[in-house]
Amino acid sequence: MRLRNITGSKEYIAESEFVVHEPEYEKGKWKERFNNNNPIFIEIGMGKGQFLFESAKKNPKINYIGIEKYSSVLIRAIQKMEEEALSNLLFIRMEAEEIEQVFDFEEVDRIFLNFSDPWPKDRHAKRRLTSGQFLERYDKILSKEGRIEFKTDNIGLFDFSLQEVEKSKWSIKEMTRDLHKNEGMMKNNIMTEYEKKFSAKGNPICKMIIYR
Ligand code: SAH
Repeated sequence: MRLRNITGSKEYIAESEFVVHEPEYEKGKWKERFNNNNPIFIEIGMGKGQFLFESAKKNPKINYIGIEKYSSVLIRAIQKMEEEALSNLLFIRMEAEEIEQVFDFEEVDRIFLNFSDPWPKDRHAKRRLTSGQFLERYDKILSKEGRIEFKTDNIGLFDFSLQEVEKSKWSIKEMTRDLHKNEGMMKNNIMTEYEKKFSAKGNPICKMIIYR
C-alpha cells in the first residue's frame, strides 16, 4: 500500500461514526453492536475497503468488520461510507497482532486475508498475517465451523503460508494457484482492489481456504 501521509487523517478518523474507537470494549458483544444476530466476517488489512463494500452490499445478512492499521488508507473507506453508509459494515484502526483483545473466543465466523503484506525478510516472518503465530490467534477468535480465506499474487508468501498451515492444526479445504481460471472457486468471488491491479498485470492469483 502506498503510504501518503494525509494531514489530519487521524483526527478525521477519531470523529467518524463508522469507526469503532474503543474496540476492546466491544469484545464479546459485537452482535449487540450491530443490533442483530447475523454472522461476523472480518477482513484483516482491508486497505481502502473495496472488497468489504461490495461484500456488505451483496450480503446484508452478514456483519462485516474491516481492520486496517494505517489512518491514511482507512480514511478512503470512511469517505466512501459517507457517500453510502452501510449498516452492516464497521471499521477498526488497529494492529492485527492485538486481535484477541478485540474479539472473544469463537466470536468471528470468517476471516479474510486479501493481499497481505509479504514481509520478505526471514526475520520478519512472524509479522506475516498467515504465520503460525497469527494462525494461533485466529484459532481463538474463529468459530468452530469458521474458515479463513486468503488471496495473494505473491508466490513466496503463498508457499510460506502453505508450510505454516501444514505445521498447524489448520487444514486446506480448497486451494488454487490460478483463481481466475478456477470456475468452482471463482463462484461468488469478490475482487479486491489489489486483485484487480495485479491480475490486470497478468499475475495469477493464489487462493486457499483453510479450516480446522
Ligand atoms: N486487502 C486490500 C489491501 C491489501 S494491502 C486489497 O486486497 O486490496 C495490505 C493492507 O493491509 C495495507 O493497507 C496494510 O496497511 C494492511 N496491514 C498490513 N499489516 C497489517 C496489520 N498487521 N494490521 C493491520 N493492518 C495491516
